[in-house]
Amino acid sequence: MIDREKIEAGVRLLLEGMGEDVNREGLLETPKRIARMYEEIFAGLEQTPKEHLSKTFSVTDNGMVLEKDIVFYSTCEHHLLPFYGKAHVAYIPDGKVAGLSKLARTVEVYARRPQLQERLTAQIADALMECLKPAGAMVMIEAEHMCMTMRGVKKPGSQTVTYVTRGCFTDNEKLQADFWRMLGR
Ligand code: ZN
Repeated sequence: MIDREKIEAGVRLLLEGMGEDVNREGLLETPKRIARMYEEIFAGLEQTPKEHLSKTFSVTDNGMVLEKDIVFYSTCEHHLLPFYGKAHVAYIPDGKVAGLSKLARTVEVYARRPQLQERLTAQIADALMECLKPAGAMVMIEAEHMCMTMRGVKKPGSQTVTYVTRGCFTDNEKLQADFWRMLGR
C-alpha cells in the first residue's frame, strides 16, 4: 500500500535538500500533490496482470495476434524520471485468446511501477506466457527516456528499443520476420 505521509515527508526533505523554502506559496501543496500523483503513476505496484488476462475466449485458428502501438508512460527506477513510448505485443495462441484491450491493460500494470525498460518488456511477455499459455510470445518496446534527454548525454528524440521472444518465437526467424513485417518495419 502506498504510504502518502511518507512520500509527503520525503518530498519536503527533497525540496529542503535543494535549498528551497518549502513554505513558499508555490511549494506549499507540492508534497501532497506528488503523493497523490504517485498513487496514480505507481498504481501497478498493487495490481497483477491476472486480473486482466484471466478471462479468455476459445479459438480454433491459432494465427498470430499482434496489438501494436500501445502507448505507455513509465518511470525509470534509476532516476525517477519518465520514459514513454509504444509497446507492441504479439502471441501465437494455443486455443485461447484474451480480449484485445487486456493486452494494453497488462502493459499498464507493469508500466505503472518504478521500472527498467528491459524488465518491462520481459514482464509483459512472461505474463502472457503464464496466463494464456500460448505457443509463444514476442514483445517490442520503443521508448524515450527523460534521463537520457534532459540530462547527461542529452539526445532528444533518441529511442531505446528492446524486445524479447518466448516459446515458439525463440530461434524461429520466420515468425520473428512476420512480427516485424506486421509492425511495418
Ligand atoms: Zn534513468
